[in-house]
Amino acid sequence: MFHAGKLVAAIAVSTLLALPAAAQEVPASVTLFKNVNVFDGKNEALLEGHDVLVVRNMIQQIGQDIPTSGTYELEVSTGRIERVEALPGSAAGGYEVIVTDEAGKTETREVEVEVIDGEGRTLMPGLIDAHYHLMLAASKGDAWRLEQPDYTHATMVIEANNLLQRGFTSIRDTAGPGFGIKKAVDEGMIPGPRMYLSGTLITQTSGHADRTLPFEEPRVFSGTVPVGEGVMKLDRVVNGRDEVLAAARQNLKQGATQIKIAIGGGVYSFYDPLDVTEFTEDEIKAAVDAASDWGTYVTAHVYTPKGVLRGIRNGLKTIEHGQLMDEETAREMAERGVYLITQPFQADESLKAIADPIQWNKYVQVVEGWEQTAELVKQYDVKMGFGTDLVFAPDMNGTQGDFLGRFSPWFSNIEMLRMITSTNAEILALSGLRNPYQEGPLGVVEEGAYADLILVDGNPLEDINLLGSNGDHIPLVMKDGEIVKNKLN
Ligand SMILES: [Zn+2]
Repeated sequence: MFHAGKLVAAIAVSTLLALPAAAQEVPASVTLFKNVNVFDGKNEALLEGHDVLVVRNMIQQIGQDIPTSGTYELEVSTGRIERVEALPGSAAGGYEVIVTDEAGKTETREVEVEVIDGEGRTLMPGLIDAHYHLMLAASKGDAWRLEQPDYTHATMVIEANNLLQRGFTSIRDTAGPGFGIKKAVDEGMIPGPRMYLSGTLITQTSGHADRTLPFEEPRVFSGTVPVGEGVMKLDRVVNGRDEVLAAARQNLKQGATQIKIAIGGGVYSFYDPLDVTEFTEDEIKAAVDAASDWGTYVTAHVYTPKGVLRGIRNGLKTIEHGQLMDEETAREMAERGVYLITQPFQADESLKAIADPIQWNKYVQVVEGWEQTAELVKQYDVKMGFGTDLVFAPDMNGTQGDFLGRFSPWFSNIEMLRMITSTNAEILALSGLRNPYQEGPLGVVEEGAYADLILVDGNPLEDINLLGSNGDHIPLVMKDGEIVKNKLN
């Protein structure tokens, strides 16, 4: 006879066998979180005092009192599994599965159970940053164009691990290189988050990512390919439908999960005022055509109402920044279901120190704009993700999680927690057929979801700032079923 707790365990063990697969499908070890309060990425009510069983890289089961040991009998021919009591030599710690195959042959498999006592901590989905630049975040000031490329790539490898240590298990990289690093991460060669890469930021001559000097000839006339484009693969300057198509397709060829274009003035760029609109409708449509033919979408860097409206009316699914938007823009974004990823920038003195006055003056406008944008988002119920856009100051990257709390005057803790988990995961999933991680959902704690999980000291629903401070309140991080940080005693 089963009683409730054992029955759940039997279900857990039976489903992890992927029946009617052969006995070798039984994994050698599994991870069991005991005694955690689960924030599932969506619901305000925590599942208190629960256990979460992770098998391979997926969340297998969420329940109460999942046993840490037991012996099970599995008949491969029927798929029938039963928990058996007190067999001689029964596993004292861990699961023991006695597998009877179709020929009647019996084999015993030991499944080691790594038990993690959560001691009442909060277990929640790994954090997601929907606007990050691995290269620019890792690179101090202009180092990315002054140092050897392999030096810059080394800083990216370090930063990839730092992201995990802060609790960020996925990033959407909105311009820059990283396809090789992503591959190395996915192969388990180096630690790092899941990376949704845009590849080069596609920009027009004079656009936000045209980093040439005003007296330099552009490539289309007699100029050479700029360093940011040819060597560092950070951006690509193009004009006209054909070149936009070629640039987008080149990114897709390398594995871009989405395409990023610049359609309005920028803060970092010297020569395009914030108010300018970039790329014609036809050029924007070209990017959208290229992306949608590959089953994915386009996002854009833009601040102004005119630019945002031109973008979303021509097929953009997400908007980056938008700090100068107005009511009409917010209303239309909500109607079209377009996501906004805006940044709660502050006029930090440390940034002023490294910025040119031209950049600083533009930055201040954006800083002043985001609070109104936050209000409009709230008023019109625009779908909002969370992305930090940390660049040029590696010493500041530890504040990544602290950005979330800056939305506190407008959003409740549960709203902010959804942004950084399940809503950001919806944004990642917009990549459709180009989504590299399709075994289950991200950004949620539910059975069948990826095991990207963090343990938090305390309850972030009560104190959102627990997700900041460089991950100091996040003692354990699991990504893809692997524990990549463990400071538990
Ligand atoms: Zn950015």
